Amino acid sequence: ETDMLKTRFTEAFGVEYPIAQGGMQWVGRAPLVAAVANAGALGFITALTQPTPEALAKEIARCRDLTDKPFGVNLTILPTITPPPYAEYRRAIIEGGVKIVETAGYKPQEHVDDFKAHGIKVIHKCTAVRHALSAERMGVDAISIDGFECAGHPGEDDIPGLILIPAAANKVTVPMLASGGFGDGRGLVAALALGADGINMGTRFCVTKEAEIPESFKQQMVANDERATDLIFRTLHNTARVMKNAVSQEVVAIERRGGAKFEDVQHLVAGKRGVAAMENGDTDGGIWSAGMVQGLIHDVPSVKELVDRIVAEAEEIIDGRLAAMVHRYAGAAA
Ligand code: NAD
Repeated sequence: ETDMLKTRFTEAFGVEYPIAQGGMQWVGRAPLVAAVANAGALGFITALTQPTPEALAKEIARCRDLTDKPFGVNLTILPTITPPPYAEYRRAIIEGGVKIVETAGYKPQEHVDDFKAHGIKVIHKCTAVRHALSAERMGVDAISIDGFECAGHPGEDDIPGLILIPAAANKVTVPMLASGGFGDGRGLVAALALGADGINMGTRFCVTKEAEIPESFKQQMVANDERATDLIFRTLHNTARVMKNAVSQEVVAIERRGGAKFEDVQHLVAGKRGVAAMENGDTDGGIWSAGMVQGLIHDVPSVKELVDRIVAEAEEIIDGRLAAMVHRYAGAAA
């Protein structure tokens, strides 16, 4: 237990450390989320990973059996092959007694209104300062600002965290997480220095013992370096950063030919195909979201080992290396 890394985020959401595990399609299930909660960070069940709102209700109950600590649910609003019944998923979240929601994607107004009316705290994850400010006007309790390095959907502005985080910090007044590219204590300290109140990590939490994905996927992300991602759907204005593999390369090649419609790549990118690839453990079988942070991931720790290590590393940097720099000058001036 430490008092060092207390921020507006830890205070507002009642967690020990300024670290979140945000929505991850096909990964954000109860055992991982509960492990994150039990390690003192804030985890989110991914609503749309559950096939039905009823299944989501069961997953929320399962998570509550595994932890007494706060946890949340992610609801992502992006183009999908089959439109999910959002209002029913929202109902499952509210009736499940969840107190924290992470929204992401297209304008979340109706969701935010309903969650707020039920006393639920909302963190909106977005990829542009103007979207953060718009969410703030909707009344969200916190922003998660997601840089171009991120896995999944980085938006179309291509602004990396080094600029996006301080640009957002200049204008956002509610607590703010920095997302995209984070995986260690150095990143946490950098995010705090840039004006954020904590970090959100996705890919790094995928490569832990508790994440229910095949060992082959974890080992591939450990082996990959920072160059091992592709941007797909650029030409469809629904850009997604994914692990570079045989399928992502095929999608990029089709898009490069020009004039591609979603129908031309649907058989390659469908979430169902990705799930089948996972079931076979085949990392070249479908699309898999992963960020540039793969280049900083070298092992498969437990969630607790990971969180403890990041916190210890961050404190050592602040109290050790950075403090020594300041004190050295103070000493010289004296
Ligand atoms: P899906 O099978 O419906 O679609 C697969 C991919 O194609 C998704 O990235 C989706 O955004 C994209 N897509 C679908 N229809 C499209 C269209 N008409 N034009 C352009 N792109 C289109 O999706 P799924 O795998 O069942 O996932 C369900 C939800 O989770 C989607 O909202 C998806 O975007 C989201 N998701 C998020 C992440 C992440 O890392 N944040 C990763 C995968 C999926």
